[in-house]
Amino acid sequence: MTPVSFNTWVGAVKPLTLTQTTITVGVPSQLHKTYWEQNLVTKVVEWCYEFGNLEISPVVKIMGDDASASSTQAAGPQPAKAQPDAPIPTYKETSHLNSKYTFETFVTGKGNQMAHAAALVVSEEPGVLYNPLFLYGGVGLGKTHLMQAIGHQLLEYNPQANVKYVTSEAFANDFINSIQTKKQEEFRQEYRNVDLLLVDDIQFFGDKEATQEEFFHTFNALYENKKQIVLTSDRLPNEIPKLQERLVSRFKWGLSVDVTPPDLETRIAILRNKANAEHLVIPDDTLSYIAGQIDSNVRELEGALVRVQAYATMAHEDITTSMAAEALKSLKLSGKDSELSIAKIQDSVAKYYQVSVSDLKGKKRVKQIVMPRQIAMYLAREMTDSSLPKIGQEFGGKDHTTVIHAHEKIEQAINDDSTLKDQVIELKNRLRNRG
Ligand code: ADP
Ligand code: MG
Repeated sequence: MTPVSFNTWVGAVKPLTLTQTTITVGVPSQLHKTYWEQNLVTKVVEWCYEFGNLEISPVVKIMGDDASASSTQAAGPQPAKAQPDAPIPTYKETSHLNSKYTFETFVTGKGNQMAHAAALVVSEEPGVLYNPLFLYGGVGLGKTHLMQAIGHQLLEYNPQANVKYVTSEAFANDFINSIQTKKQEEFRQEYRNVDLLLVDDIQFFGDKEATQEEFFHTFNALYENKKQIVLTSDRLPNEIPKLQERLVSRFKWGLSVDVTPPDLETRIAILRNKANAEHLVIPDDTLSYIAGQIDSNVRELEGALVRVQAYATMAHEDITTSMAAEALKSLKLSGKDSELSIAKIQDSVAKYYQVSVSDLKGKKRVKQIVMPRQIAMYLAREMTDSSLPKIGQEFGGKDHTTVIHAHEKIEQAINDDSTLKDQVIELKNRLRNRG
């Protein structure tokens, strides 16, 4: 096993009991249990026999209550193939993978450990257990990183593997080009002869009918040949507007796992890793400070570190907490605002459109209220770090899909209607300059 997979599958496991006939191991999740049952249990039987002359049957138990974690929906267990020995890595990159996005550089913690474990399984046994693997969650939480790590890992096991990474837009463009240049056959050859297809941000397939049609056939061809497909999106398949039902149902065939924002400890670990990689000397309390300032998005966290680093270079000083505070002060203006509350947004929007806050939170469907309500939801999503469910809750207990819908509605409306756009900009300015 590679060190990474050893840490994931064996490091996280506890031996519980050993008798003449059984050995019981405790594992942290259903994913681990499945992995053990399909890959390690027979080995344990062999080793016990070989080294201890014992005829022992292993029992794998899930510890704690992770077993029913709601964020994962596994398909029924399928027979696993033996993993061939990993060849010596000699691969050249033709797969459009970013060399930084590997399992080695990925920090696991609450929020991403299920996604990480699933990604590892898929990299070790592509096309077998979870096909497709569907990773979903907010921006900057490591979906692209994890997806590409699968590609790197597979290439390490098998340098001959044909791995292809594309964004959904690149797929769409390739397809459209192939029609225009009458090279559809080449397009199909290119996409249907891969061992691992990684398609990033498939929420952008939404409007593209012909591309969806083509992807449907690509998907089927790969799936039938037991080739692995990995998809990412900012939301679940059934929440993607205008995604064809047959794609939605296929995307649910395998495993869907969400990635949620990292907790403080994980954020500190990510920063520390990053600082080490860049040979930066940063005191622990400064790392904690930075991690405490930015709590939603790993990309922003990295951005904060870069900013502090730039600040230190310009000032010719070592990095300290007070310097970090200074460096990050201006960041707040551009990004999300941790002090701006949803209540404040509702207040301003209500005043601006001369409706009541309780109407914004209510259920009335008249146009004079629906539009301000959707604008308030839009602003809550754009300007605060609140999660979708939280925003829904603050609007009289609405479902998070209502918030997504409102956000999309306004985004679209702003594009089509410059008066509305001006109103939204005006509201944003008022909210930013409050007090
Ligand atoms: P997403 O695709 O979900 O929007 P990305 O994969 O692009 O997010 O991640 C944004 C940045 O944060 C990348 O530079 C990535 O390497 C980094 N990142 C995200 N999560 C982690 C993690 N758990 N450990 C290390 N780096 C991470
Ligand atoms: Mg991404």
